[in-house]
Amino acid sequence: MKLISLLTFCFLILSCDFTSIGTINKTYIIITFDDANESIYENALPVMNEFGFRATNVINTARINHEHYLSWQQVEELEFEYGWETAGHTLHHVNLPEVTLEVAEYEIKEDWQNLIDHNLSHETFVLPFGHATEEQFEIILKYYKNIRTSRDLQMFTPINRKYLGYFAYKTEYQPQNMISRILQGIDHRESIIILGFHTINENPGGWTTNCKPDDFRKVMEFIFENGFEVITINEACEMLS
Ligand SMILES: [Zn+2]
Repeated sequence: MKLISLLTFCFLILSCDFTSIGTINKTYIIITFDDANESIYENALPVMNEFGFRATNVINTARINHEHYLSWQQVEELEFEYGWETAGHTLHHVNLPEVTLEVAEYEIKEDWQNLIDHNLSHETFVLPFGHATEEQFEIILKYYKNIRTSRDLQMFTPINRKYLGYFAYKTEYQPQNMISRILQGIDHRESIIILGFHTINENPGGWTTNCKPDDFRKVMEFIFENGFEVITINEACEMLS
């Protein structure tokens, strides 16, 4: 009897392991933080460290060191100490289709140069407001290898590294909204799911894309407990595009 119990126990442990939804189809999770808000360091980083997760940190370099934004020291710490990827987002978060090609190239190139000057990773660019003209896409690709849009796209191997999608957390959401999006991705056997956050504050303060710290923790806990592997945008592109 004892042996049977032991075998049953082992079987249960093994089945749990093999049916863990994060590992069954090998869907990678990518977490992005856009716009360099100080709450990323203050409220998201401790949770990310608790679960051993890394993110892609999407910054507007002209805003770094300004009030309510990350400092250069924090941006560097996130990449050099915690292994996050840093990504460009233009100097000032300009709406690219509304500016001339000259201004667009200046905003893209100088932002990219700032990443290089700080020895940060500079492979990934995220479109501010999710838009760029065709000519601007060409300019971006002179500097960057990966472009993330603001559309919620399904992404399968080989993923299109020049046109990635994401699912953004909105102020009115509950953790279940994001968890449902993850489950839908598993259902469709998507290769990667990019989850986007902006500010992580108790009080949204006018942001339409805020996530409360407790809710952020619940989403991360779900990812952790289901055994998903969390990687950066560039790691996913190098592996799956
Ligand atoms: Zn942005």
